[in-house]
Amino acid sequence: MNLILMGLPGAGKGTQAEKIVEKYDIPHISTGDMFRLAIKEQTTLGKEAKSYMDKGELVPDEVTIGIVRERLSKPDCEKGFLLDGFPRTIAQAEALENLLSDMETSVNYVLHIDVPQDKLIERLTGRRVCPECGATYHVVFNPPKVEGKCDNEGAELIQREDDQPETVKKRLEVNVEQAQPLLDFYQEKGYLVTFDGDRNIDRVFEDIDKKLGGLVR
Ligand code: ADP
Ligand code: ADP
Repeated sequence: MNLILMGLPGAGKGTQAEKIVEKYDIPHISTGDMFRLAIKEQTTLGKEAKSYMDKGELVPDEVTIGIVRERLSKPDCEKGFLLDGFPRTIAQAEALENLLSDMETSVNYVLHIDVPQDKLIERLTGRRVCPECGATYHVVFNPPKVEGKCDNEGAELIQREDDQPETVKKRLEVNVEQAQPLLDFYQEKGYLVTFDGDRNIDRVFEDIDKKLGGLVR
């Protein structure tokens, strides 16, 4: 099952990804998470990515495609994968088509979570994440059991640096501009499925689950 999640920042990709990979047992590949890990480990990749991420800009295609190519070649991707945050440009989408065709496979679905833009700022500025396991919460819409602490290991939750109101606005601008051509690209290929993401987390997952159930049956 080869899946791509699409949607603007804050649409709920990470949140739905947690549920999808748990149920369907495929690796969750988030380029944003990979870059954040590289930054934490202070690798060369991390240093390069940080300069773009702090400004809310995209990391160059060459760098991004390179890390995805490497990740998809790992054995755990043989049963499929869920890409989250990639592709973000047409060049990345084309590179992915080539990569998968070399692996003699292809995308099954592009799951597009659609949420009106005015809701996204509220979602992003209220987002809190676990620095240890990557779990995502929201101070109002999806609070942890104990305020400020991760449900899994109890680590102190943090706010991502790029979830500050000023960076959020810039990220939304960049993403809106780049999203449409990608949606068109995948619509044309017949992979695109759009879900109404402006409902509670479980309702959105129910719809996605129904669609994916058709693939494994
Ligand atoms: P993305 O990965 O698309 O940027 P996230 O999954 O991190 O989005 O979600 C952004 C924020 O919105 C998080 O704080 C998350 O808890 C919250 N959230 C996710 N889905 C919903 C939903 N359906 N309704 C309300 N809040 C949501
Ligand atoms: P969100 O889904 O909340 O926008 P991500 O965690 O996906 O955030 O990405 C955070 C940052 O990492 C982006 O703003 C960008 O700088 C970088 N990034 C992630 N994925 C890509 C990609 N496919 N291409 C270029 N830059 C990326």
